[in-house]
Amino acid sequence: MLNFAGATPGPSHPFPHTEIPAPVEPTPPWQLLWAAYFMTMESPFALTFAAVLLAATALAQTAPPAAGPVVEPPSAAAPAKDGEPEVKVMRALPAEPETVIIDVEKLPRTLPPEAKIVYSQTHVVPAKVIAITFDDGPHPQNTPRLLDMLKERNIKATFFLIGKSAATWPDIVKRIVAEGHEVANHTWTHPQLTHLKEAKVLDELQTTHDAITKACGVAPILYRPPYGAATLSQKKMIHEHFGYPTILWDVDPEDWRAPKSIAKVHNTLLKETRSGSIILCHDIHKETVDAMPSTLDDLKAKGFQFCTVTQLINLDVQTAKEAAAALAAAPPAQATAPASSPPAPAPATSPVAPAPAQAAPAPPPTVDKTKD
Ligand SMILES: [Zn+2]
Repeated sequence: MLNFAGATPGPSHPFPHTEIPAPVEPTPPWQLLWAAYFMTMESPFALTFAAVLLAATALAQTAPPAAGPVVEPPSAAAPAKDGEPEVKVMRALPAEPETVIIDVEKLPRTLPPEAKIVYSQTHVVPAKVIAITFDDGPHPQNTPRLLDMLKERNIKATFFLIGKSAATWPDIVKRIVAEGHEVANHTWTHPQLTHLKEAKVLDELQTTHDAITKACGVAPILYRPPYGAATLSQKKMIHEHFGYPTILWDVDPEDWRAPKSIAKVHNTLLKETRSGSIILCHDIHKETVDAMPSTLDDLKAKGFQFCTVTQLINLDVQTAKEAAAALAAAPPAQATAPASSPPAPAPATSPVAPAPAQAAPAPPPTVDKTKD
């Protein structure tokens, strides 16, 4: 069981926020003194001014802390004046997502039943966990070189293999699996599937499935269509036939396109990778592998953790399920407990702000299994 206690909600994260209420600014005693003074006067103007001061005092107890001491209603929403003491808002912020560490080694390596049919990334992982993938191998020189780099950094990757190459270099396929990486199906001859009839598509995938299984003893459970091109009906047909989800990507350095360069791979990955990303690279290109030491080190330095695509899917599904269960079990929101709301309470002059509705449980993540 994964323990996400303390995991932090990112902007798109469904976990509820918990915050310590901001301290209420103490009532300025001078306001009360001046109000009392004006109330002793007979003048209607003075009485009005005293009432204004009292109203301001009340407002100061309920106004947003960021607005600072309020002295002039109803224009009290004006920002605090320069030179006034800054109101410190103390909040017990949960740890930022990048500080959450997942024990990626323990993530399952079989697909959960809730897995979607198509993924180009995952959306609800609770930490900076990503999957890097390498297509079109194995390559007799570049893949072993890459495996050394991954091993040195204890990084697990996913290899979308060409069946023909897997059959040619089975020892490399065996090494990929022995070192903890995932092997996946990328067809036998790398055709564009949208140009092929159903029987040919199935043949491309079946021969590759068999070659990978024969080489390493592990059957692939994912595939990626060459060029990312497959029709929706093909994706459904392949899922029904092999159980494979279609794995696309959200980060693409176009490392196959000239001019190939280390900088292009490094900079694109560092700039575009997000929590839950699936990164596309090709280990048949020397420059891509050359780029890996600095790219992997810099991604790690930014707090990214690596796992296989199947593990990333498991993390995504598991997190969504736990968040939905937590929301479903949460008690109804209380109208008198706005402290955990975002810091935008209603003005004191509108005390009948509607209580926030109870958050509905998040829908299951697999309603539309074809969308991503
Ligand atoms: Zn490819």
